[in-house]
Amino acid sequence: MTLVIVDLPRSAPAGIGSHQAFVMTTLVVAAAIHAELSIGAERVRRRIAETRYVDLSSVWTFAAALLLPPLLAGAAVVITYTHLYFRVFRPSKTPPHRQIFSTSTVVLAIYAVAGTRTLFDVDAGLLTTYRGMSALVLGLLAYTTVNTLLVVSAIRLSQPGSSFLRILAGGEIMLEVGTLCLGGLAAVVLGSASAFVLLLMFPPLLLLEQSTLVRQLEARATTDAKTGLLNPDAWRWQTTTLLRQARRDGRIAAVLILDLDHFKQVNDRHGHLVGDEVLHAVAQVLIHEVRENDRAGRFGGEEFVISLGGLSESAVRGGKVRDVAERIRARVEQLRLEVATPEGPLTIADISISVGAAVYPSAGTELTELLEVSDAALYAAKRGGRNQVQVRYGGPPLTPSPQPPTPPFGLRSTGRSRP
Ligand code: GH3
Ligand code: MG
Ligand code: MG
Repeated sequence: MTLVIVDLPRSAPAGIGSHQAFVMTTLVVAAAIHAELSIGAERVRRRIAETRYVDLSSVWTFAAALLLPPLLAGAAVVITYTHLYFRVFRPSKTPPHRQIFSTSTVVLAIYAVAGTRTLFDVDAGLLTTYRGMSALVLGLLAYTTVNTLLVVSAIRLSQPGSSFLRILAGGEIMLEVGTLCLGGLAAVVLGSASAFVLLLMFPPLLLLEQSTLVRQLEARATTDAKTGLLNPDAWRWQTTTLLRQARRDGRIAAVLILDLDHFKQVNDRHGHLVGDEVLHAVAQVLIHEVRENDRAGRFGGEEFVISLGGLSESAVRGGKVRDVAERIRARVEQLRLEVATPEGPLTIADISISVGAAVYPSAGTELTELLEVSDAALYAAKRGGRNQVQVRYGGPPLTPSPQPPTPPFGLRSTGRSRP
């Protein structure tokens, strides 16, 4: 079936033209088929989304924004998202208010695209001209900007202390842009060729879906859910690679173990949930204080690990490892955490951390060896009064920590106990 040029939105007739109805129906049906074909992958993606979930239906909603008047495009969005709600979001336990919010952001994005079309004075049939393509690109930017800013701001508001840029980076912005490019192609196809050509969109879309799911599962499998840091297995594996690279390039590396001081008291005084907030805040400090190529992980309980790679000998001689560890220690000490408790708001200010570090290759060449040395250094930091850094540059491994004494009152702590 060949489509004639669509004449929208300026000179659109007052009622809904049969062609507009056809375009709208085609896009809604295509979105529904797409959702049904990818239902399994989408449900899993929805459930494991860490921060922001980019749903690929924007292929169809962006095409609607380019081809239809905003009111009709908005109606197509509401129908598509209602279908998605019952088939994907509700089964993956997404609360209805979040779905309503997502739908509203897409409708607003559609009005932003309508604004760009008016600005360029183009109708949908002109999408294949230079002016039309400029309107399409600007429309794509407007759609992404409005949608992303609203969603990221909402996440930022609902997660106090989270970083705007970090949510943005974790928000799969390239996936969103890639999906919208496909939406632009769908609009061009639907505006100038047979609607059946749209069927060619499905294989690349389903492939995109699968590869996105694999990437998200991989990220999930390597992340500690409570803090967003690497989990122990992933940290070990990535640190082994980091040490191998250091060996190959003749560089220096370091392994740090960091343990919160008297953390049990935080739990005992304020409860486990507040304890969890402290763990999250400390993890944020680590994330901000290490470079892109370093690796930060949670080893378990209130114990963290960091590997620093690619250091030069002169930098290490100049005290680089100690400087990094000291900076983290000082930042943790400066933390002021506002938490809500049943008794009212509370400021937690007395957090401190002890750090033990071992330098590669002088203190050890294997990860296990470096962990042993840094653990012994951490023990020395605890024994030395806590809230301090101990770095080991070489020599034989320090005496391993003695077995912790059995706590009185028959209590047993889950973490490692230090004197
Ligand atoms: P030290 O200065 O010697 O390290 O003392 P500490 O109290 O930090 O160490 P200890 O090993 O005695 O206690 C660790 C505490 O960490 C006990 C445990 O309840 C708490 N913990 C472990 N994992 C979690 C967690 O995921 N959340 C919370 N809130 N607490 C945790
Ligand atoms: Mg501790
Ligand atoms: Mg501990």
